[in-house]
Amino acid sequence: MSAGLVALDELKRELAELKDLVGIASLLAWDQQVMMPSGGAAARADQLSTLGRIIHARATSPELGKLLDAAEPVTAGLDPDCDDARLVAVARYDFEKDVKVPADLRAAMTRVSAEFYPVWVEARRESDFGRFLPYLEQTLELKRRYIECMAPVTEPYDALLDDFEQEMTAATVRPIFARLKEVLIPLVRAAAASGAVDDTPLRRQLPVAGLQQMEQRVLARFGFDSAAWRLDTTVHPFETAIAISDIRLTTRYEVDGLESLFSSMHEFGHGLYEHQIAPELDSTPLAHGASLGWHESQSLLWENLIGRGLPFWERFASELTGVFPNELGSLAASDIYAMVNKVNPDFIRVEADETTYNLHVILRFELEQEMLSGELPLAELPQAWNQRMHDYLGIEVPEDRLGVLQDVHWSQGSFGYFPTYSLGHLRASQLWQRISTELTELSEEIRRGEFASLREWLRENVHRHGRKLTPAELQDRVLGGAIDPEPFIARLREKLAGIYGEALVV
Ligand code: ZN
Repeated sequence: MSAGLVALDELKRELAELKDLVGIASLLAWDQQVMMPSGGAAARADQLSTLGRIIHARATSPELGKLLDAAEPVTAGLDPDCDDARLVAVARYDFEKDVKVPADLRAAMTRVSAEFYPVWVEARRESDFGRFLPYLEQTLELKRRYIECMAPVTEPYDALLDDFEQEMTAATVRPIFARLKEVLIPLVRAAAASGAVDDTPLRRQLPVAGLQQMEQRVLARFGFDSAAWRLDTTVHPFETAIAISDIRLTTRYEVDGLESLFSSMHEFGHGLYEHQIAPELDSTPLAHGASLGWHESQSLLWENLIGRGLPFWERFASELTGVFPNELGSLAASDIYAMVNKVNPDFIRVEADETTYNLHVILRFELEQEMLSGELPLAELPQAWNQRMHDYLGIEVPEDRLGVLQDVHWSQGSFGYFPTYSLGHLRASQLWQRISTELTELSEEIRRGEFASLREWLRENVHRHGRKLTPAELQDRVLGGAIDPEPFIARLREKLAGIYGEALVV
């Protein structure tokens, strides 16, 4: 075997071990949020920090650099789309990005976020921004140091966005968000004023046992299989893949109506993406979604385009009212469909309806940029938050628990993450447009509770590639062009016209 082939083999072994270490870190983080008693927080912060240091040291080691140097000439002669060529290209990209960040900065970021998480949980519970503030300051300081490492960037925010959506820039996002604001703010105002949908039956807590029963039935239909999947309870729902055949979903029940069900469908979409990556990519850095914006397109497709669609409720309405005969009586599919699509300007992003959701994201995108630039003093963040909630959604935030403290992201050091949710919304609608022309029987299948052809379509067109394609390459191949807000806007207008009447959307 040539020296190059030997290096390629060694490189694959090293990358597989790194992937194992990342899987172990994910498992510790899952445990931290799902199982760990609060007394474990300090030790877990140390453990995650130690593991983060080990991963960083290996991911940036001169030995890995040498293996890449030696393997590249081998893959240069191969089809650039083949697994080996893509593996080496992605490993090179990750390596170059990782070596820009000094080990002490990486360790500090890991340590501060591990300490910040339990502080956020407490601060949110007590609605105490004062406790949150010093950790937010430290986190932003570390982010500024991180951005310096990524130089040159056109603008600082791009360095953060790039971590979640490779090559995406704030300059690309801004006009898309401006278009959404132009359409959504008046639409939200008109719908809220119309009061045409009464969703009282879904605005109270439903018995947890019944919700769990519905979740199990729906997820089983979707493709959840207990040999490879788990569903547990946590504070802030998330999905994490320990491996292609070990998918962890979480949900929470201290919410009204069917929120926990939608949350489970959402996390299922994330899980299915990871689960349907081509098995031969497991144990490589390619065994992951292309980007967060792509990931979110998958979760939102299952949550909104399936779960909030009329065909879905034509299948599941009678099961739901069968599980909750006292609470939901004889609601018809069309009643539930209107209720779960009600435009309901409210405080909490993760409980927001499809129409108001993106305004929650846009608010965070704007505030993050202002915090980073120093234009917004951090002590004034709650006021700035509340002002935008008033301007965009027309509501007054009564306490920070329901405002600036609601999300886990900043406590995890995740700045630049929020815009990917909206990019996912827009991609989900673009995908739906294409899927609807290719899977002409899909509505009928959904009415029968069958999702196999949709799963297969997603596997073939999106999931199996993992990170073999960059977000933009995948966009180009599957959607043939740039991220476009218009399919989302058109679908939303059509849906709301059906529920509220044509007058709302003109
Ligand atoms: Zn998500």
